[in-house]
Amino acid sequence: MESKKITDKKKLKLAIGLGSTCSGCDIAILDLGVKLLELIGLADIVFWPTVFDFKYSDLKELGDKEIDITLHHGTIRTTEHEEIARILRKKSKVLIAFGSCSCFGGIPGLCNLTDKKQIFDAVYGENLSVANKENIFPEEKLLINKNKSITLPHLFDTGKTLKQLVEVDYFIPGCPPPMQLIEGLIPLMKDVLGGAQLPEKGTVFGSKKTLCDECTLKKENKMISKIVNPVTAIVDPERCLLEQGILCMGPVTRGGCEARCINVLMPCRGCMGPGPETEDQGVKMISAIASILGVKDEENLTDQQIEDLLSGIKDIVGTFYRFTLPDALLNRKVKERR
Ligand code: SF4
Ligand code: SF4
Ligand code: SF4
Repeated sequence: MESKKITDKKKLKLAIGLGSTCSGCDIAILDLGVKLLELIGLADIVFWPTVFDFKYSDLKELGDKEIDITLHHGTIRTTEHEEIARILRKKSKVLIAFGSCSCFGGIPGLCNLTDKKQIFDAVYGENLSVANKENIFPEEKLLINKNKSITLPHLFDTGKTLKQLVEVDYFIPGCPPPMQLIEGLIPLMKDVLGGAQLPEKGTVFGSKKTLCDECTLKKENKMISKIVNPVTAIVDPERCLLEQGILCMGPVTRGGCEARCINVLMPCRGCMGPGPETEDQGVKMISAIASILGVKDEENLTDQQIEDLLSGIKDIVGTFYRFTLPDALLNRKVKERR
């Protein structure tokens, strides 16, 4: 990023905008606790609709590049999300994708397994708790009178990441991002105020290594003969979970969370996104499994035996692309339309 001073102000302007989100990312920022006071000592919050009563008109009234730093969380799912993301880009000097949804599509990005029609049919039609005899579905246009209609925000078929829409300066992954990365915003703000050299554009905040590098469990490079359920398995708390047959995404996931799930003996689900040098987290993990799933007389297995072996993987996309489907090489399911 630029080494020149990007602002002469004594206090920055900070915005926190959103797409499709569970707001866990907002909560994670609030969890800064006392450090939140330090953050607001460095920056005035000019837009954060989850927490304060900001309107979109407040954002639109700001000048181009008037916001110094924007954190954007959530997946882009609707025309409204797209509009807000584009406005935030225009008004911000530094735009940061914050959280796995904004960085890689996140959990809402699993919508790419279906499409808008299927979602509407399920939510407004087939759902047993819905009484909708008149078949009323959300409209994209609202008729004001016979000559005039307005377009309403509407859902896209495909969920997108922020960078698929606009240029993004930095990425802070995690679902939600780990506290130590959120705290890293404070020195970043000081650097912006002081005119220090900022990290290179496109930097992903987090470790430059994979999660396995920061995991303290003992690795013995053992092959596995079957995949087991982490909930029912009897786990050795000292040994690598993957080597015990539990699907752990550590080998293909960026470190930086201090192995917070492994520390409570839950396998990594991959929320920090692809590890450094990894383009597609799911493909790399499938390849990793293929190389450690060593079975005696592998070449003599029948199709049924292979199927039984792989039946330990209950949900392929949900396991390997839980947080990254929109960012994957094959980023959506396509149905042949007749
Ligand atoms: S990254 Fe996780 S915590 Fe943040 S909005 Fe998405 S689902 Fe919620
Ligand atoms: S695979 Fe999981 S449990 Fe094993 S070393 Fe890596 S992060 Fe730790
Ligand atoms: S261990 Fe994995 S799933 Fe858990 S916080 Fe870290 S990266 Fe995310």
